[in-house]
Amino acid sequence: MREHIPRVVIVGGGFGGLAAAKALKHSPVSVILIDRTNHHLFQPLLYQVATSVLTPGQIASPIRNILAKQKNTTVVLGEVVGVDKDKRCVWVDVADRRCVPVEYDFLILATGVTHSYFGRDEFAEFAPGLKSLADAVAVRNKILQAFEQAEAEEDPARHRDLLTFVLVGAGPTGVEMAAAIAVLVRNTLASEFRRINPEMARVILLDKAPRVLGSFSDDLSNAAKERLEKLGVEVRLGNGVDQIDAKGVIVAGERIFSKTVIWTAGVAPSPAGKWLNVPTDRAGRVRVQQHLAVPDHPEIFVIGDTASFDQDGKPLPGVAQVAMQEGRYAGDVIHSRVTGGSVPGPFRYFDKGNLAVVGKGFAVLQTGKVRISGFPAWLAWAAVHLEFLAQSSLRVSVFVQWVWTYLTGQRGSRLIVNHHSAEPSKPAVGEAPAVVAGSIE
Ligand SMILES: Cc1cc2nc3c(=O)[nH]c(=O)nc-3n(C[C@H](O)[C@H](O)[C@H](O)COP(=O)(O)OP(=O)(O)OC[C@H]3O[C@@H](n4cnc5c(N)ncnc54)[C@H](O)[C@@H]3O)c2cc1C
Repeated sequence: MREHIPRVVIVGGGFGGLAAAKALKHSPVSVILIDRTNHHLFQPLLYQVATSVLTPGQIASPIRNILAKQKNTTVVLGEVVGVDKDKRCVWVDVADRRCVPVEYDFLILATGVTHSYFGRDEFAEFAPGLKSLADAVAVRNKILQAFEQAEAEEDPARHRDLLTFVLVGAGPTGVEMAAAIAVLVRNTLASEFRRINPEMARVILLDKAPRVLGSFSDDLSNAAKERLEKLGVEVRLGNGVDQIDAKGVIVAGERIFSKTVIWTAGVAPSPAGKWLNVPTDRAGRVRVQQHLAVPDHPEIFVIGDTASFDQDGKPLPGVAQVAMQEGRYAGDVIHSRVTGGSVPGPFRYFDKGNLAVVGKGFAVLQTGKVRISGFPAWLAWAAVHLEFLAQSSLRVSVFVQWVWTYLTGQRGSRLIVNHHSAEPSKPAVGEAPAVVAGSIE
């Protein structure tokens, strides 16, 4: 009789899932990692793809390649659509087959989050979010296209709409994006257009909260706001957006005309809680127990952004460090169970600190009682982000690009790439064409 090798199914090859897979590298188990994309994405640098600093290939790596040397692990490209706890299997849509069952002895769900428009899903059409590589390229297209359209536009009123960029949500992503657009406009585009002055572009950052970077201390939040304003970003706090439509946004009763609105506000967890039919928090994240497993099912772990774990009376934040530490921990628990070793004590997150970058050469750093802003924090930010990129080739390439961009203002990829259509985008029905034939001088 052949010995049964326990099978660990990991759903999601993001920060949490990948850390879990790596923790099981030397375990006597067979690991199947399923992801609906073929790549591990370094989401913290998505905004740099959206603002043309980096190319998509510099912040993502094929999961298959990252785990190529891990012989006990198989990578499957497929979308999990459900879990059967009793039969111990997940249902996967893979290639042209639907609901293929994949059995497990242990299951780790690390399926992350998606955008949330707080019940106003109609905003999605006009205000794309930033979560995937495709999102980042779409936002990059939108920003670059706005300048191209403005250059070709006769009507100064339309210049205003085209060159107004609105970011909704002043958390780290909104702050980083707003600052990066301001730098793009002033350092890179300023000298390249003849009919418009890119420096007249407005970048507006909105949030209903009273502070930017709400998870940082007051002094760092103020430092970030001052920096944004120095870069020319208009920071408007204390009011949520009432409306987002084809004309722009309405906030506190005021209409802001804009052709480029970017949603950086909310996230919603994956449907893991629904698949498992287990208790969730108000946001829908699965409430996990002290070993990150779900109630009555010690073989099912939920980790990362899609899990809710309280520590010292507060839920852990949805950040990469939490996901990675949880992933490693879940892997260690499974390893000790299959090898008969002693199971680690309850999970405890070790907070190494918080970082956010605000334009060229400026970041804020908060770790324990230490609070730093400015260039030293930016160096720390750069070092940490390089360290956590998935592969050394990416580290080298991103480092070289950053040095080049820092010194010259030149970007890695300023291409407008419309994947689905070779034709330039057309004005919406009823909208005046942007260019009168023959009017370009
Ligand atoms: C723009 C942006 C900036 C950020 N900046 C920072 C930062 O500066 N610092 C920081 O610490 N954190 C940052 N974060 C948060 C951080 O990226 C997340 O906390 C982290 O990615 C969570 O890891 P995870 O493994 O839970 O989920 P993810 O890394 O999102 O991975 C989830 C994976 O599951 C896959 N998946 C989802 N559903 C399915 C399914 N049904 N079937 C198969 N596969 C599925 C996805 O394709 C994905 O690969 C940022 C996030 C974003 C979006």
